Amino acid sequence: KAKEAGKNTYTFYTLDMTIASYERIGMENALREAIKEKQFVVYYQPQIDLKTGKLIGLEALLRWNHPLEGILPPGRFIAFSEETHLIVEIGAWILKQTCIDLVSLHHERLFNGTISVNISGVQIEFSDFLSTLKETIAETKVDPSMLEIEVTESFIMHDPERWIVLLKEMQHLGMSIAIDDFGTGYSSLSYLRKLPINKLKIDMSFVKDIPKLEDACAIVNSIINLAQNMKITTLAEGIEHKDQEDYLAEHGCEQGQGYLYAKPMSLKNLKTWIQKF
Ligand code: C2E
Ligand code: MG
Ligand code: MG
Ligand code: MG
Repeated sequence: KAKEAGKNTYTFYTLDMTIASYERIGMENALREAIKEKQFVVYYQPQIDLKTGKLIGLEALLRWNHPLEGILPPGRFIAFSEETHLIVEIGAWILKQTCIDLVSLHHERLFNGTISVNISGVQIEFSDFLSTLKETIAETKVDPSMLEIEVTESFIMHDPERWIVLLKEMQHLGMSIAIDDFGTGYSSLSYLRKLPINKLKIDMSFVKDIPKLEDACAIVNSIINLAQNMKITTLAEGIEHKDQEDYLAEHGCEQGQGYLYAKPMSLKNLKTWIQKF
């Protein structure tokens, strides 16, 4: 009986493993297909100057227009794309598409701020990202000073020395650098001093709880003060309510992004939104 139970466990185990690996192969093939068939789409979310209320930036956010499931958010496929390194190709694609869209928005005189693009550590570790960047800038003729790179603290802290060199080179190209989800990683303040950065993006987990919760307010204020002392811009992510906006503006946060202003949208919808804004 024990043997039978053991055998069953083993059978179930291998069955699960098989299903899991089938699913992984399926997902990987689907993503390769998505690259080939151009199923990815860039959505753009407005960034607002909290003092003037003006549109000053856009964040490029990846979506997968899946043939059966419709528009999928990055939470459904980015981690897997990083594990399989497919993010190298997908990341190069979104960078280029964003540059193309930026040039078109600029030519149509709809927008002259910056667009920020999220970069994964995998793109840095497993590809020559700087060359991709230079080629894309040359091909699309985008003005690099209208481009911003967003990277999370955790990626940088994984290999800070390498990132410092790379970020400096990006700044030399004219681009600006933002640290995404700031406050959620374990960045060391001594590295922060050495990092060539232009902006801290205050993570929405803190923004969510202001002005109600004291600890969230304390952290947000500390980040703003730190940034001001280092002459770095702050942008608060995930602003959904007016009282959050008021608190942030009063405490010296310069920029904001969130559903209060607009959700991420397709280029077509963005153009309409800008004309009405
Ligand atoms: P992120 O870069 O921190 O982007 C902000 C996320 O917050 C976006 O989710 C955005 O839609 C969402 N958001 C913005 N305002 C609000 C708000 O007011 N309330 C709430 N609840 N959410 C808000 P999204 O588009 O699902 O992206 C999730 C994450 O996926 C991004 O976080 C980023 O880490 C990653 N990601 C997106 N596009 C790319 C990409 O092209 N490359 C890489 N490597 N990662 C990407
Ligand atoms: Mg981001
Ligand atoms: Mg973020
Ligand atoms: Mg994030």
